[in-house]
Amino acid sequence: MANKDERASDARVIAAARAIIDADYVIGLTGAGMSVESGIPPFRGPGGLWTKYGEPPMNGYQIFLADPKKAWEDRIRRQNDELWGPLRVAQPNPGHRALAELEAMGVLRFLITQNVDDLHRQAGQSALAEIHGNWKLIRCIECGARFRAEDIRLETLPPPCPKCAGLLKSDTVAFGEPIPPDVLAQCVDHAARADLAIVAGTSATVYPAAGFALEVKQRGGILIEANLYESEITRVCDVSLRGPTGEVLPRLVAAVGDLRRARLS
Ligand SMILES: [Zn+2]
Repeated sequence: MANKDERASDARVIAAARAIIDADYVIGLTGAGMSVESGIPPFRGPGGLWTKYGEPPMNGYQIFLADPKKAWEDRIRRQNDELWGPLRVAQPNPGHRALAELEAMGVLRFLITQNVDDLHRQAGQSALAEIHGNWKLIRCIECGARFRAEDIRLETLPPPCPKCAGLLKSDTVAFGEPIPPDVLAQCVDHAARADLAIVAGTSATVYPAAGFALEVKQRGGILIEANLYESEITRVCDVSLRGPTGEVLPRLVAAVGDLRRARLS
């Protein structure tokens, strides 16, 4: 744990808020740290799901394509696994709500998340790309349509796409599976316009997500991180806000609100 002295000072929060106010186009990039604060275990590391259950196969997508019927049978059989339990009960935390508020204020234009837990949506985020998919959704790998899992009939496996009869798969992106092109295009588009990126709950080392933040920096933009620990991203960040995102992001958004009001008056 970061000790108390390392927690983001008010001065640093205000410095970050000022940069956000001065920016033209702010995007966000979030990762597993935000989910962990909502009680969802990480995949890797101590207590991680993969540490416990083993890493999924690196060619998971190819395995799915080779035998989609079996993949669906496995999915149905594993629905009551511990893997799914925390996702079912997790609620958005103050960090998720702070980012949704920043969007509602017209400040945060777009959010890219690596999380599949649906919590940004539940917090009210609407300009959102779930780059690794959403665990509650099913996606047609042919036409790209998404459906709520409970709306898909499972009489025949694999179930056909209600729109095009194509092959349906969990929306969560498997190893070996390309990022869905519609999601990737949105990320590329917004990242190209951004002059400031807020990186929260991620060390931003997993590509392609990390690339969107680094691209903003390489173009001369500003990077702000809200992370519990120092990581690879820290050395390229202009302002590092140390602490849980559920604590740091609400402070940051409150400071943005205060500065805006002060400038308007
Ligand atoms: Zn389809």
